Amino acid sequence: MISTRTIESIRADFPLLQRTQGKNPYIYFDNAATTQKPRSVLDAARVYYETLNSNVHRGVHMLSQQATDAFEESRRVIQRFIHAKEDREVIFTKGTTNGINIVAHGFSRAILKPGDEVLISGMEHHSNIVPWQMACEYTGAVLKVIPLNDRGEIIYEEFLKLLTPRVKILAVVQVSNALGTVNPVKEMIADAHRLGIPVLVDGAQSTQHLRVDVQDLDADFFVFSGHKVFAATGFGILYGRAEWLDKLPPYEGGGEMIKEVTFEKTTYNELPFKFEAGTPHIEGALSLAEAIRYIEGLGIDFIAARETELLSYATESLAQIPEVIPVGTAAHKASVLSFNIRNAHHLDVGTLLDKQGIAVRTGHHCAQPLMQRFGIPGTVRASFAFYNTTAEIDAFHQALVRSIGMLV
Ligand code: PMP
Repeated sequence: MISTRTIESIRADFPLLQRTQGKNPYIYFDNAATTQKPRSVLDAARVYYETLNSNVHRGVHMLSQQATDAFEESRRVIQRFIHAKEDREVIFTKGTTNGINIVAHGFSRAILKPGDEVLISGMEHHSNIVPWQMACEYTGAVLKVIPLNDRGEIIYEEFLKLLTPRVKILAVVQVSNALGTVNPVKEMIADAHRLGIPVLVDGAQSTQHLRVDVQDLDADFFVFSGHKVFAATGFGILYGRAEWLDKLPPYEGGGEMIKEVTFEKTTYNELPFKFEAGTPHIEGALSLAEAIRYIEGLGIDFIAARETELLSYATESLAQIPEVIPVGTAAHKASVLSFNIRNAHHLDVGTLLDKQGIAVRTGHHCAQPLMQRFGIPGTVRASFAFYNTTAEIDAFHQALVRSIGMLV
């Protein structure tokens, strides 16, 4: 479905987009860090507390049962959104980082042995590097890294060379938060599966931009965060193929994740509860389900098309400024424009843009090894969502030219 709504009416759904700085509308180009929330998502959390608030899964009383129904319905909405086969394959987490840690911990306890390899790419976020380094440290496994070309793309021949029977898991980002590169994860998964290697996809930057179908991708694990998909912070999803989730031990112990506890022994609950110890982030789940309803109301194809238009408009706009050095020029990109200004520090550029009412991110974007690959300390990153406009990009262009005038 393609939305026929005007951009003005869509923007009116987002209270934060009504903010101003001085006389001007505030321009929010930090969507890769977190997205703004539509009113329906904000209302879902409020209505939950006003009408349903109680603990889930445990109560015999009406409220607890209604809250449990709403909570579990959210799981099914999310299941349909990513097209998981079963709702028990959708684990509620604190976010992408938490999801990766659950899997890396499971692999370090149950799978990895000395000399095994974990394969990641050179453009991973720290949250898809450090948990695997920790897993390698505990088990004696070795972390291997797929190199990138100068455009910020995986060098596919090198990837194939690194794909050997020693690799026990491939963990790769679908869309790079620092460069915007869209990786060919479906092809990578097919190549990994030929050798029986499971694959974790970091979807922190993909579900908000592209249609994701975990069965079509054939992913073994897929993780993402609610707050980057127009929902609450502190909530996210670990999708795992049931056979794999069954093989991994639980990450945390406590209430909800048990079947029976004695002082001698505990048996664990079935999926998804085995991985959901403690009282969950109930309104987080409801807010993500509501955000998905919002996305589906607009149509993910509408969102993808609009963002492609914004990204190419912004790329062309910045190409007119001679001092701009783009970082990440992959053939297939989504929503992120990273760059530096010749003879200026990224932090100074970001600060001057902020003074002019434009929010961009500066720094290493939690991808220090990637910055080392490009020999730079960081970049300025503008990242777009469907609610941004070409008029905002024009204002950004002018503000950037003014900033450069002050700096170089
Ligand atoms: N991976 C990628 C590609 C990301 O962009 C981010 C967030 N910047 C993360 C992982 C971590 O997400 P969170 O902080 O929501 O756990």
